[in-house]
Amino acid sequence: MKITDLKSYLIQMDWDDRTGGSEPKNTVKREFVFVQIDTDEGITGWGEITNYPGNIGNRAIQKYTSEIKDFLVGKDPTRIEEIWARTFRLFTYTGTRGATTAAMSGIDIALWDIFGKSLNLPIYKLLGGAVRENIPLYTHPPEPGPDIELAIRDAKEIVASGHMAFKMDPMMHSLDGGNVGFLDGEISAEGAERAEQITAEVRDAVGPSIEILIDAHGRFNVPTAIDLANRLEPYGIHWFEEPVPVESYHALQQVRDSTGVRISVGERLHTRFEFVPIFENNLADYVMPDVTWTGGDN
Ligand SMILES: [Mg+2]
Repeated sequence: MKITDLKSYLIQMDWDDRTGGSEPKNTVKREFVFVQIDTDEGITGWGEITNYPGNIGNRAIQKYTSEIKDFLVGKDPTRIEEIWARTFRLFTYTGTRGATTAAMSGIDIALWDIFGKSLNLPIYKLLGGAVRENIPLYTHPPEPGPDIELAIRDAKEIVASGHMAFKMDPMMHSLDGGNVGFLDGEISAEGAERAEQITAEVRDAVGPSIEILIDAHGRFNVPTAIDLANRLEPYGIHWFEEPVPVESYHALQQVRDSTGVRISVGERLHTRFEFVPIFENNLADYVMPDVTWTGGDN
């Protein structure tokens, strides 16, 4: 079997932005990138990359991925690990993490799809088989806004639906640019107080047994992250996710040394290599690699 073509697609869909409450605030375009790999035996594999908040990342990655076509055409799609290693090496001078691993995620998933289809087996059977029958998942209410009553209502709805864990970012609405907003890693005193108030009241509303996970989206400088983590700790938060930008393990170490909350990282880490310092230095309690971003099954 040989690869005959690679196409990457940018898909747009309307998405109701519910930041700050259950009611749609406005409709925005949300974009997703999919990868299609064709073979000379008529088997087509599909991979997914997305999505990157702000959409510009999606558009760049879609084009970046399509440039890898010439390198893949003619290769045996079942030599998945070899293709991964050679593609990784292809970008050794331009940068092997981030854009490269995003593109490789889509390609890797598509190649596994081809392999599974060629054997008529689900991919999990090729990766060692099933381990458990159920996996606990958390969910998201709309991101809390200034109206705390709405945040409480949303949290109660989530709990009523049977979920035992949910994640929220009570800082987001106080920051210019939301998830992708970053200037100096600071939050106003009012924003920090509001984040604490939201977390306290939501905890009160849902009771002690529901896991509340807080996502900081990798936005804060070290003292701000430490302050926020310590403010929210008394409300029994289950984890504090990505307190600082991913570029410095040392920054994460400082947060780790100065707070008792459980730390989660991984969405912005690429390949197993970037997780090694996390484990070696005990920098987190949870890791959450995203197979559509980190390089697939690498
Ligand atoms: Mg996150």
